[in-house]
Amino acid sequence: MKVARFRHEGEISYGVLDGTEHGDGIEIVELAGDPMIVPYETTGRRLRLEEVRLLAPVIPRSKVVCVGKNYRAHVEEMRGVTGGEAPAEPLLFLKPNTSVIGPGDAIVRPEISERVEHEGELAVVIGAVAKSVPVERAMEVVYGFTCANDVTARDLQVRDGQWARAKGFDTFCPLGPVIETDLDLADARLETRVNGEVRQRASTAELIHSVATIVAHASEAFTLLPGDVILTGSPAGVGPLEAGDEVEVEVEGIGILRNRVE
Ligand code: MG
Repeated sequence: MKVARFRHEGEISYGVLDGTEHGDGIEIVELAGDPMIVPYETTGRRLRLEEVRLLAPVIPRSKVVCVGKNYRAHVEEMRGVTGGEAPAEPLLFLKPNTSVIGPGDAIVRPEISERVEHEGELAVVIGAVAKSVPVERAMEVVYGFTCANDVTARDLQVRDGQWARAKGFDTFCPLGPVIETDLDLADARLETRVNGEVRQRASTAELIHSVATIVAHASEAFTLLPGDVILTGSPAGVGPLEAGDEVEVEVEGIGILRNRVE
């Protein structure tokens, strides 16, 4: 099931996509409330996809938890930048929920940075309150998956010595276009393109720490709330974003998250 959050005639709602991805005629069936909070119930209203503006499919209740260095080839490419080896356990950092934008929104490069980079990632959307959930039960608290771009001011990440500002600017966490609740994690392809040129290509099969391990590990530190989001790490191929670029993050089975850069 593909869950969207959208605006129609000034009103924000959730809905479920109905239709094929390649044919025309995708419709949104409106839901009565936030499906991460209230039981699934439709209002009966149907809208054509072209009639609505898709928004970030979730605004995290409290936090975006991120995992660093979770693909080996990316660990290698970052060795001379932020240093280090592949961490033995997931390396966590946070982005504020004010950094979240949706599909079609602009990534705004802050004037203070001269090197803003894309990091296309698989994102996990939490669907239950979770504290210290064991790894065997971690997938029970996952609502679904979406595409994310862990936009990073690389020069400030190095200069600051920690990552809060470099990862946390407004617009630095594009999410979308929808949440897929039934993604097969065994080998989902992930691709990041800038102006149509492929910059990152990987599979979820290459994650060093699995989604279940990441969720369990994060919940040891933080109480996870419905609507919190966890970014699972970037594959190799991170690179600069310039004004006027169009950046796309595609995860097979979810869709394409497309943003322009200002
Ligand atoms: Mg990242």
